[in-house]
Amino acid sequence: MIAEDRIDLYKKLSMADAVAGREKEVREVISQYIDSAKLKINNDHFGNLYIQTHGNHQKKIMIAAHMDEVGFLVRYITEDGFLYLQPLGGWWGHVLLGQTVTVTARKNGNKYRGVIGTTFPRSTDPNKVIDPAMMYVDVGAPNKEAIMEAGIQPGDMITPYNQVERLTDQNYLMGKAWDDRICCGIMVSIMNHFANKVLNQYDIIGVGTAQEEVGTRGSKIAAEKIKPDIAIVLDVATAKDTPNADRFRNRVLGEGPGIVLYDKTALSHMVLADMIADVAKKNDLPFQFDMLSGGGTDAGSIHLNGKGIPTITLSLGIRYCHSGASIVHLEDAENLIRLLQYFIAELDQSKQEFLEVETD
Ligand SMILES: [Zn+2]
Repeated sequence: MIAEDRIDLYKKLSMADAVAGREKEVREVISQYIDSAKLKINNDHFGNLYIQTHGNHQKKIMIAAHMDEVGFLVRYITEDGFLYLQPLGGWWGHVLLGQTVTVTARKNGNKYRGVIGTTFPRSTDPNKVIDPAMMYVDVGAPNKEAIMEAGIQPGDMITPYNQVERLTDQNYLMGKAWDDRICCGIMVSIMNHFANKVLNQYDIIGVGTAQEEVGTRGSKIAAEKIKPDIAIVLDVATAKDTPNADRFRNRVLGEGPGIVLYDKTALSHMVLADMIADVAKKNDLPFQFDMLSGGGTDAGSIHLNGKGIPTITLSLGIRYCHSGASIVHLEDAENLIRLLQYFIAELDQSKQEFLEVETD
């Protein structure tokens, strides 16, 4: 059984609107759910959020989950009241048309609902993907003056709009921005768990990172600030369990979180990877070894800090990742929480050094 307050947390995180550089609403949700009597919480000027256990240890574990979602900025307002888009993060034209979005006016904080449209030229091949640059948001305003009166300006953020719903099997949770809000929720749960524990060797710092979707920028600054001894990155990865997915049938929803061994920007630290896999086996927790051949995570920035930081990414399978409605599996999230709890407890008892390298 998954506690209702955890599902509430996931819902609030999903519904928060926050593209790269505008992570405020997610910082607010996280702050609201953190056990603030027992954890220190602050942020830096870049927008990263830090949650820290009250220990006074030399060694630090950093747990990162990014707060920004893929979305857009208002690029240009037409005389007849339509908003052209500047994508923030990777978008595929196929998933955009007809999607409901929210425009947040930074001037007055008002939120306006709209739909993504395009005027389809007669000459265009109907089978071709339309470039998001050809699309606009229709917020139902008669002209530019009405847009200005509403307080909407270039640079305002546009985010997908969707409700969070539990699907036919209640473990399947549909919503927007699960990349990476589901992992923000997992990070919060881990921090609250360890708020009540006494650790021997490590302090834990949970970080809600900023600006991941535009090139893992916030985590670079966070790693520099914290200089962790070990970093664990939590991020989603596209599930390959859907019709016509590729031949590696991995990231199957409901079959456990992923221990990522490779992504395009970082090779995971193998001692960490094997240690986590052993912890999973010992505690009968499902997991899937994973390789992210299509992209990177915050690990790409963090592991290159200073002399190099032992870093691993733990992944959660997600269907329809960069779209207005993705699906994750609640048991996978629960198992990732359990795995992190057991692993950190074991690490805290362990004499394992991670920075030893073989030399000739
Ligand atoms: Zn992500």
